[in-house]
Amino acid sequence: MEKNALTNKITELEAQVAELKQANFLYRSIIEDLPFGIQIFDKEGYSFKVNSKQKQLLGLPDKEEGIGRFNVLSDPYTVALELDKIYKKAYKGERIERQYEYNLALKENRWNTKKEKRVFNETIFPIKQKNKTEFVVSVLNDVTEETRRIRELAESEERFRNIYYNNLAAMLIVEPETRKIVEVNHAAENFYGYTKSQLLTMKIENLNTLPLAELQNEMVKDGEQGQTYSQFKHKLSDGQIREVEVYSSKILFNNKMHFCSLIHNITERKLFEKQLQEQTQEYYSLFEEYKAQNEQLLEAKQKIEDSEKHLRLLVEYAPDAIFIQTGWKFSYINKSGLKLFGVSSAEELIGQPVMDKFHPDSHDKIKQRIISLNEKSQVQGLSEQVFIKADGTEVHVETSGIPFNYYGKNGALVFVRDISERKKIQSEILKQKNLFETMFNSIQEGVVITNTEREILLANQGMLTTFGYQPAELIGKKTKIFYADEESFQKTGKKIFNKEASQSQKNYLTYYKDKKGKEFPGETFGTKLYDNAGSWIGNIGIMRDVSERVTFINELKLAKEKAEAANRLKTEFLNNMSHEIRTPMNGIMGFAEMLNDKNISDEKRSYFVKIVQNSSHQLLRIIDDILEIATLETQQQRVNEEPLNLNDFLMELFAVFNLKSKERNLPIYLKKGLPNSESEIISDKTKLNKIVSNLLENALKYTPEGYIEMGYYLENKSLVIYVKDTGIGISPENHKLIFDRFSQEDKEMTRKHGGLGLGLAISKENAKLLGGDITLISEKQKGSTFYLTIPYKIISDVSETNSNATNNKPEPTDNKNYTVLVAEDEEINFLFIEALFEQQKAIQYDLIHAKNGKEAVDICMKNKNIDIILMDIKMPLMNGFEATKQIKSSFPHLPIIAQTAYSTESDRKLALKNGCDNFISKPLKKEKLFELMNQHLKTIQ
Ligand code: ADP
Repeated sequence: MEKNALTNKITELEAQVAELKQANFLYRSIIEDLPFGIQIFDKEGYSFKVNSKQKQLLGLPDKEEGIGRFNVLSDPYTVALELDKIYKKAYKGERIERQYEYNLALKENRWNTKKEKRVFNETIFPIKQKNKTEFVVSVLNDVTEETRRIRELAESEERFRNIYYNNLAAMLIVEPETRKIVEVNHAAENFYGYTKSQLLTMKIENLNTLPLAELQNEMVKDGEQGQTYSQFKHKLSDGQIREVEVYSSKILFNNKMHFCSLIHNITERKLFEKQLQEQTQEYYSLFEEYKAQNEQLLEAKQKIEDSEKHLRLLVEYAPDAIFIQTGWKFSYINKSGLKLFGVSSAEELIGQPVMDKFHPDSHDKIKQRIISLNEKSQVQGLSEQVFIKADGTEVHVETSGIPFNYYGKNGALVFVRDISERKKIQSEILKQKNLFETMFNSIQEGVVITNTEREILLANQGMLTTFGYQPAELIGKKTKIFYADEESFQKTGKKIFNKEASQSQKNYLTYYKDKKGKEFPGETFGTKLYDNAGSWIGNIGIMRDVSERVTFINELKLAKEKAEAANRLKTEFLNNMSHEIRTPMNGIMGFAEMLNDKNISDEKRSYFVKIVQNSSHQLLRIIDDILEIATLETQQQRVNEEPLNLNDFLMELFAVFNLKSKERNLPIYLKKGLPNSESEIISDKTKLNKIVSNLLENALKYTPEGYIEMGYYLENKSLVIYVKDTGIGISPENHKLIFDRFSQEDKEMTRKHGGLGLGLAISKENAKLLGGDITLISEKQKGSTFYLTIPYKIISDVSETNSNATNNKPEPTDNKNYTVLVAEDEEINFLFIEALFEQQKAIQYDLIHAKNGKEAVDICMKNKNIDIILMDIKMPLMNGFEATKQIKSSFPHLPIIAQTAYSTESDRKLALKNGCDNFISKPLKKEKLFELMNQHLKTIQ
């Protein structure tokens, strides 16, 4: 190598070394002076380099402390903090950036560093050479203070938030430029009545009532001052205005300046302040008043001093006469006095005795009064006297006096008033009062004058006749006592007597109540009373008893209703009658027409004849009824009293109706109330028959099933004949009605059964003619009992005849006494035959009753006296034909007459064929029976 070249090389190397030195120095200085702590670890983990900042951060007393000896991988402190792991990560090439709290106080830290906690921002990274890690560098930045400040800030913000949101005072945060409300607390929501979200859409001018320009000024002012206090009027959501005081301070909110306002409601306080102010004002004005009054008092004093003068003038010119008397003489007299006394000047009277001017009649009184005034100093009240004028005329005056010392002399100041005019008016009023009272009391109706409360001030004599009250006892009472009830009282009040009543004069009808409590219809004429000024002062009421009028009207109404009802009845009757007459007429005309036909059989013919006869009877009965009611109406009916045996009479009726009831399968019972000997009475048999028949007919008509009972009993010297049924019954409300002419309870029902509604009317009229009546007890569906009550008239002197009648011994025509055997299973049929025998007088007889064929045969075998037999055919045990056969075999000449319900020719033939001598059909006809009897008895004679 050339020397030059070497020299160059050396120079070059030297230059390189110098450069390297320079660079080394540079890096060392940089590392040393960097504001971060830097610690460099070699690849074994030993601490290699620590700069002065790091020393400062860790509080290492000297720079070499631990360097070279401190191994990050094995030192207990770093292991405890797991820094060895971080080193390993970095060694492997990772770059780690973190904030980490180094607790240098841990006991594992053996090094002579600070013993406290520090927070570092730490960056750990490897330094590589040729892709191999040579060093691991840790760069520390102490952020302990900063993090503490941040934490404190966060805490203080939290505290602020708490205070803010939970503050009892309303708080708002407002953005100054836009005046937008950006935050509110709960109290603000409650106070303003808006929700938070509503408030956050609002601006402060939506709450504050200040005009916008002024508000903006206020905001600018607040901005300058930092913290302010103002009073505003804020509007709530419901429109109410509240006086508020607002503390505003600037705060940083969302990194921007805002106003935080604290709002206090001071409305109450303001009100109180206002009241205080008012009260002060009041005290002040009271004080002023007091001052004024004081001044007035001073003034008054002055006035009093003046008034004496005035009084003097007043007395002189007073309209009333005034004089002063001392020692019984006139000492002073005013102008009116001169006029009253009829003198022209005071001199004429002064010094004159007072007594001279009074009428002698007044002297005693005047004397007493002057003594009292002059000597006893007693005030004298008003009193009337007669005074004599200068011209001698009399004047009625009223005087009063007060004791008066006039220039040292005892006397009196006397006031005199002319009352002659008043006297005249008084006597006029008295006259009028008398006139009024006479008039007032002579009114027949009750008259009261009341005050506005309806309390009686005056009542007339008419009150006694109308209500039974003495006028005096009514004074002060309320007019309510006249009314039947509270409602009537109130009603009349509303109509006229109350303040707000619609009319001031009115006539009306109401209900009154007299002193004894009896109610009656009344009419009142009421009118309101007014005084001269037109004010309402009370009422006059004139009260009239209108019961007579009401009764009369009611009677008229009733009569009208009756007439209408009668008219209705008549129409119904005509309809009914037409039906009733038409039915039998149809029967008569229809079947009479058929009888014309030559070709009909005898049987049919007799059947038609029967219908015609029945219909005729029905028609006749209707006509009879109508005629009877007409004669009853015109009172042409006469009573034909005759002796009759009630038992027999009822027996006959029983016999007739028993037949009818049998057809209807409705048993009929008879109860006799007295023995035969006591049942002899005097009455009108025809009428009695009509009545009881009708009752029985009705019982049959209106009883669909059950039974009928008839009978009689004695009660209080009256005979009560009754007919009882178990039929449809009659409602109690119709018990009276059914006795009216043409009345029927149920039109449909009676139409079905026929009838004109006359039966009971006729019966009742007839019962009355007999001196009795008909009553009934009945209920719907429970049957009816009709009672006919008639006087129990007995014939005491006809007992002889009576016994004859009961023994049924007619006058004999011949002296023979016949024995008649009646074979008849039906009791009633036997009774009927017995009755028929009793009625005839041609033959004397003894009746024997056999209840069946067997008994008839037995009796015949025993009793040889039997003259004739009436033989029923249909009988239990043994029928009539069989009995006839047996009897005839022993007594072929004993006449036997068959009596059957069958009436045809073939029936007759059958009877004769069975050995009977003759035949009679039921119901037995009296004439026919006795004709046959005679015929057969004669043959045996
Ligand atoms: P009528 O011809 O309608 O039977 P009455 O004068 O005899 O006339 O009777 C009047 C009414 O009284 C009858 O229509 C019936 O409604 C009622 N009546 C009479 N008797 C009886 C009875 N025994 N049971 C029920 N209703 C009766």
